[in-house]
Amino acid sequence: MWIVPESEIAGLMTREAAFDAVEQVFAAMARDQAYNFPVVREAIGHEDALYGFKGGFDRAGGSLGLKAGGYWPHNLERRGLINHQSTVFLFDPDTGKPSAMVGGNLLTALRTAAASSVSIRHLARKDAKVIGMVGAGHQATFQLRAALEQRSFEKVIGWNLHPEMLPNLEKVADEAGLPFEAVDLPGLQEADVIITITSSFAASLMADHVSPGTHLACMGTDTVGKQEVEPSLLAKAVIFTDEVAQSVTLGEAQHAIASGLIADSGITQLGAVINGDHAGRSDDHEITLFDGTGVGLQDLAVASTVVDLAIKQGKAIEVPF
Ligand code: NAD
Repeated sequence: MWIVPESEIAGLMTREAAFDAVEQVFAAMARDQAYNFPVVREAIGHEDALYGFKGGFDRAGGSLGLKAGGYWPHNLERRGLINHQSTVFLFDPDTGKPSAMVGGNLLTALRTAAASSVSIRHLARKDAKVIGMVGAGHQATFQLRAALEQRSFEKVIGWNLHPEMLPNLEKVADEAGLPFEAVDLPGLQEADVIITITSSFAASLMADHVSPGTHLACMGTDTVGKQEVEPSLLAKAVIFTDEVAQSVTLGEAQHAIASGLIADSGITQLGAVINGDHAGRSDDHEITLFDGTGVGLQDLAVASTVVDLAIKQGKAIEVPF
């Protein structure tokens, strides 16, 4: 059994490798060659922590396993540790024997950024020039860095409820040599691509803040009750997702579904576009929306990739088990 510690991930995993792993597993999901197991998420009544498991089996990629972890809200203040903690466990699909244990914290950010990037690659207009960000926290920087590699963007604009966090976005734009402009929500009409990545429980982005032809990646809503965009925006958009079952229950689509504005039959797996079974964007005026809810198979995909890289580079620890 191999161990790849959290401290090695940054030196091993690249955005490109995460992109390829996530694109492949989305494609496998849409061919019914990979599926996610029901998610377990529990408030454990200790340290106010939320703990759970996301797992699945990718027959095409040969990955079987789960990500275990969650959110410990007092870690930083009490112990100097990050609040999100996760570890991926992989198993040999032929025997059930454990094959690897992999640090999952950085991988979670990379696989989440890869998901919106895959959606941008397949659904945004080719001539997209302005990228708009709603949210400026931990995930937002990963999202922006990965998205900037998908089109020849010329400008980054951003809105955040807490404007003091906007320099996080400006720093990433700077690294890419692009200008950054803080905007109000209507100012996002200038964007050709918008990523929403907040922990909000109410809509910030309204339908009239989004211009025709925009591609949206809604990435923050991963739990029942969270919400980032006005439901009528989903009614105006062509909707794609990682997994329809999650999109309609705990993703951004949950609200438009609950109010009867859309039906789950109108939501397409992004993998179908990757596989060529769905045309994706049909013209330059369509609004496309990717509801990125986050699935266990993404975690397994990037963890498998990083184990291969770690073995090749002599950085994986082998333990008899
Ligand atoms: P963070 O705490 O670092 O940042 C939170 C962001 O949300 C900040 O920009 C903050 O200003 C903004 N925000 C907070 N309350 C708001 C409100 N009421 N209205 C509008 N904005 C508000 O969090 P993070 O680690 O960047 O995670 C952001 C979100 O992404 C979370 O909801 C998290 O659960 C989700 N997430 C999703 C996936 C996925 O696969 N889809 C993966 C990881 C995280």
